Amino acid sequence: MIRLEGISKYYNSDANVVLGLRRVNLELNLGEFVAITGESGSGKSTLLNVISGLDKYDEGELFVNGEETSYFSVEEQEQYRKQYVGFVFQNYNIIDSFTVLENVMAALMIQGYDPKTRKARALELIDKVGLTSHKNHRASKLSGGQKQRAVIARALAKDCPIIVADEPTGNLDSKTGEMVMALLKEVAKDKLVIVVTHNYEQAAPYVTRKIRMYDGEIVEDKVFHPTDKVKPTEPKAPVNLAILDVFKMALMSIFRMPKKSILVFITLLFAMVGVNSLYALNNYVPFISTGGGSYNDLFPNNFDGRVIVTKKDETAFTQTELDALLNKSDVIDLIHNDFLLDQYYYVTDNDDPYNGIEGTPYLSTYVKSEELSSGRLPENKNEIVVRNLGWKTSTYQINDVISIHYGFEYYEIYESDITARYEQFDMTVVGILDGDYGLYDVVLHPDFFNQNVTNTINPNNFLAARYISSEFSLVYEDVSYYNNSQQSIGINDTLPDNQILVHPNLVNYVATMMAVEEAEILTKSFVWTKLPGKFVGEKETTVTIANTSNSEKYAYWMNSKTYLSLTSEGPYQITLLVKDAFDADKVMRGLSDDYHTIHPASYQGESWGIGGLSFLTVMAFGLLGGFLYIIINLVIKSVIQSRKKDFVIFRSIGASKKDLKRMLVIEQVIYSFVSYILAIITLFIMNTLIEDFKVMRFIEIGFYFVSYALFLGALLLITRKFSIRLFGRSVITTLKSE
Ligand code: ADP
Ligand code: MG
Repeated sequence: MIRLEGISKYYNSDANVVLGLRRVNLELNLGEFVAITGESGSGKSTLLNVISGLDKYDEGELFVNGEETSYFSVEEQEQYRKQYVGFVFQNYNIIDSFTVLENVMAALMIQGYDPKTRKARALELIDKVGLTSHKNHRASKLSGGQKQRAVIARALAKDCPIIVADEPTGNLDSKTGEMVMALLKEVAKDKLVIVVTHNYEQAAPYVTRKIRMYDGEIVEDKVFHPTDKVKPTEPKAPVNLAILDVFKMALMSIFRMPKKSILVFITLLFAMVGVNSLYALNNYVPFISTGGGSYNDLFPNNFDGRVIVTKKDETAFTQTELDALLNKSDVIDLIHNDFLLDQYYYVTDNDDPYNGIEGTPYLSTYVKSEELSSGRLPENKNEIVVRNLGWKTSTYQINDVISIHYGFEYYEIYESDITARYEQFDMTVVGILDGDYGLYDVVLHPDFFNQNVTNTINPNNFLAARYISSEFSLVYEDVSYYNNSQQSIGINDTLPDNQILVHPNLVNYVATMMAVEEAEILTKSFVWTKLPGKFVGEKETTVTIANTSNSEKYAYWMNSKTYLSLTSEGPYQITLLVKDAFDADKVMRGLSDDYHTIHPASYQGESWGIGGLSFLTVMAFGLLGGFLYIIINLVIKSVIQSRKKDFVIFRSIGASKKDLKRMLVIEQVIYSFVSYILAIITLFIMNTLIEDFKVMRFIEIGFYFVSYALFLGALLLITRKFSIRLFGRSVITTLKSE
């Protein structure tokens, strides 16, 4: 069966070459129970390792069933071990975390046994070594003798022709040792059993042959009982493990070392939550209260949730378009006439009309009722919340009816024609704010702006205000003449349709600019257009210029019908109300095709887009990534190191490197997948608990996949590094270093 011809082996240690075996010739056959004896260092283990394919030799030839083996590749050598040899070592190489049954079943599995017959066969073998009563005990809980018997059962499970045992009784008391020998003897009936022992007396009653070694050579070879030639049976064909079995083994390893596994899970969980949170934070930072602080000329009312929209083609919005905008996800409400948001209101004080509040209005959409000192938020266009500024002597009370004015700048309120220039709304106070300072002093319902403007505002009063008037200019032959003084429109219904009277000063101004006589100006036909600013749209109407010395108050006069034809076609500019700057960005990105958008809080004309990484974030990611890599590296290293012995055992019972690598990969997939699920649950909990930073809002679905892939990749990389170290060594060196 096995034949050695002139086998020599040398060990190259640091300085010198040590002799392992010298020209050994030997033939061993099935049915023999061979004891190899000799003093320590005589080469017993070396001989055994060469025979069992754990070690290579330097000279000579080893024949297995007549076949040369010196040209075996690593894989072929592995195959040989897997098919031919069962191992029993002195230090009972058994997987401590598995039960006896599992240890034996693992061997049967690696051997390619059908899953259905595995258990029955394992129980049979366990019975054979007398461990039935201990079959469900963890190997770590067994005595030395029991462990060794379990190992023999496992070696038998391999169903291979050769069983090698290196000092199998070395750590056992003599009685147990004898039992083990008896067991091996029984096994040896149809196998070749080779036992290395320095205690020959113990083996003597059982062996059929004694080989004594000295200094790497066989000095004695006695056959006591010539054995009947047992006909060698063809060993089982090699199999690769079924993926399901590999998966089972991976799961078992994870569950059977709970402490280490929990460490891995927790480490990965922290890492994953950390990376995802950092990413979310990166996306969140640009949106942290961008509004309120900075004054912005064009749009003084620059709260976070305001998105100003105009059409790229500069026409008015149609009702269909407005409905579509309002129905967009993340849009809470729509303000048709958003210019009002940028107008200054003046709220009177009933006791002291000279001491009211003024500013730009705030919307109830963005106020929580907890922020109020008393009362509730406005629920319709006629309700208001006001601040009782600390320095004021009189205070507003709930249910007071007070007036809010829109019109010229506040100081003009004292002028005599106040009613002609202001629109006044009577409001009921439903809530009070206290304190000298707040982001806002007045809170209105969004309907105040939509319903009042569309239903009740009289252009004769209100719209003839500065902001509106200054939006118009006269255009003649593509040259625009406007002055930016705060002149406004007067409504005079005695004027004919489409005629606009122009103040003499303006006529003079335009004539000077055109270098013509004033009289000539009056014969021209001008185009009436809004200011060329992009955010007000454009409206062209041919108008007649007429001189008048009517009044000093207004720059232009026209009748109501003409005025409405210029202004009532529909809004050119609207405001979408969204939750905050983050949603503003999302909405702006969704609108970028047909609309101009602006987010006055950040004064950002175009979407800045989330997902961009700032330099700071890249640094933070680098640091966190490096730190996590080191930690995960340490954890995986410790896990793999603690399983070094298990891997060697797996290999010694025939698992291939490929199987073990697959098992490690599957383990990493399980670790990372379960941790990631836990991480997402954790993020979800953080999401519900942390009011101000809704983590999950700031992570796109795609990033979850990207970050998972990164984690799995890193894990596999780290695992690969350690497994290369592990598998790079031969089984025997790994075993010896145990
Ligand atoms: P035994 O099992 O009879 O005690 P070994 O086969 O283990 O003897 O060792 C035979 C000789 O080879 C000894 O001199 C030992 O020091 C040497 N040897 C064994 N293994 C190695 C090794 N891995 N590296 C270097 N020398 C070794
Ligand atoms: Mg030895």
